[in-house]
Amino acid sequence: MLTSAPLSTSKLKFDLLSRTNKRNLRHSFTFSAAEFVAELGTAHWILETLSESFHKLKRLEKLPIHWTMHQVRECFHIKRCNKCQGFRHLAKDCPSNRPSCGSCAGHHPTRKCRSPQVVCINCAMHNQFHGTRFPAYHHASDRGCSYYLGEVALYKETRDY
Ligand SMILES: [Zn+2]
Ligand SMILES: [Zn+2]
Ligand SMILES: [Zn+2]
Repeated sequence: MLTSAPLSTSKLKFDLLSRTNKRNLRHSFTFSAAEFVAELGTAHWILETLSESFHKLKRLEKLPIHWTMHQVRECFHIKRCNKCQGFRHLAKDCPSNRPSCGSCAGHHPTRKCRSPQVVCINCAMHNQFHGTRFPAYHHASDRGCSYYLGEVALYKETRDY
């Protein structure tokens, strides 16, 4: 996930390496196991690290880049389709032939939404088919979405760091 970025990824990697070498975190960015998001203003960078470094960074919680401390938080690599709002696939692999709105759950692309209603299609459908009572009045991309949190829990079970 790289939302908007003022610097190139390779530049950032270089900066991180040069800065972290001095802090005995040389092996931090060998790109293998866990993901991080270092927030750089409005930009989100994902850094992959070895498990050991992951725990070090998690304790530090902050990362110095360009002499500024940046918040580091764990990021889960959970795919959500922005066509149907379903999880575990992306729009290019979407099996649905109709789009579902991420804002009102109607059958139109999210960007064309004109509805003032905010309904999470994933929570609403889950409630409908499984009799759950997930709160459903939120956007499909809401971080507090019960359905999303369920996906996070499942995902964590498959990781062993
Ligand atoms: Zn989809
Ligand atoms: Zn809509
Ligand atoms: Zn939801």
